[in-house]
Amino acid sequence: MTNSFDIAIFEGDGIGPEITAPTVALLDRLAARSGAYALKFTSHPAGAAHYAKTGESLPKPSLYAAAKADAILLSAMGLPDIRYPDGTEISPQIDLRKAFQLFAGVRPVRVTEGGETPLKLPPGKEIDFVLIRESTEGLFHTQGRGEVTETEARETLLITRDICEKLFEFTFNLAADRKAQGRGPGRVTCVDKANVFRAFAFFRQLFDEEAAKHPDLKADHAYVDATALWMVQKPWEFDVMVTENMFGDILSDLGAGLMGGLGLAPSADIGLSQAVFQPCHGSAPDIAGKGLANPFAMVLSGAMMLDWLGLKHGVQTMCDDASALRDAVDAQVAARADVTPDLGGTARTAEATEAVAKRLGC
Ligand code: NAD
Repeated sequence: MTNSFDIAIFEGDGIGPEITAPTVALLDRLAARSGAYALKFTSHPAGAAHYAKTGESLPKPSLYAAAKADAILLSAMGLPDIRYPDGTEISPQIDLRKAFQLFAGVRPVRVTEGGETPLKLPPGKEIDFVLIRESTEGLFHTQGRGEVTETEARETLLITRDICEKLFEFTFNLAADRKAQGRGPGRVTCVDKANVFRAFAFFRQLFDEEAAKHPDLKADHAYVDATALWMVQKPWEFDVMVTENMFGDILSDLGAGLMGGLGLAPSADIGLSQAVFQPCHGSAPDIAGKGLANPFAMVLSGAMMLDWLGLKHGVQTMCDDASALRDAVDAQVAARADVTPDLGGTARTAEATEAVAKRLGC
């Protein structure tokens, strides 16, 4: 088949394998039903448990296989009790972002009418925005290399013109696509701390340079602390937001909280040629092995992967399947039927995924 794609799978740690297996099976069934594309999944070792066994967190063959794959689908990696000698955790998902220069961390936050949210939404209001987290530099620049002495510790925040130009071009293009699809007003907000740090004044300057190329889109700025407030007070006003790595790390969990928790929050880390799709959550060791994990963040990450591949290779059926998958999960969450305990239900991981497959008729 012409539209056949190799997908590198990283099952990861904790609940990782439990949410990966049903997600892969669901994507496989969708592809088989369409007859328009095929997905070939291959699993590769990496993660904290693998490090504990072998001393390697991301073996070279796994990295090479990921580089060659058409896309990467990853669950979650890391276990709090397994650490490098410097005390930091094993996090190959961050190594992949750096290795493949996946500068755009895409975190969609959606709450449709009747959907899960701890907020009381005013009538007629829905939440639908995308947070773009720069994912290769910022305050993660010296990750694993920070200087620590008896008396002080230093990490370096790096903002480069090269990465920012790519990041902002990606962000404005995404806002234009959303506007074209009728999903947003075409507004891009630069989230920074330009009132205090020169690095963020530079970040903002580069944002403004890109904004000038898009007169059809609105561009504005917000400080990160105020953004945290507004994400709770009036999240429906945001469309596309772009920010530095650490700010994005924190705000994306706030975004996940807005939509009923980490179990519903998907993400993509996208570069110029490769992309990793994974839930925002971690390996949830507290519930691992119990069949309680919510698979929807992983399923929705799979939908983002279908969209990305479909758009990149011109396979409309993949984009249609991605929408169908999102709609099926939305409907299931809104009905509060066949959902896992984190959403107030009693379904087990496999039952929740099977119910989505049933809604899709595959
Ligand atoms: P976590 O996201 O794993 O868990 C936080 C809370 O959310 C826990 O109570 C957990 O049970 C719950 N939760 C998370 N995912 C869930 C799901 N799918 N269904 C139901 N409940 C879910 O965060 P943590 O406890 O801070 O981290 C655990 C480990 O995961 C750590 O080692 C951390 O470094 C790692 N981590 C990895 C990633 C990643 O791979 N991208 C991201 C965050 C944390």
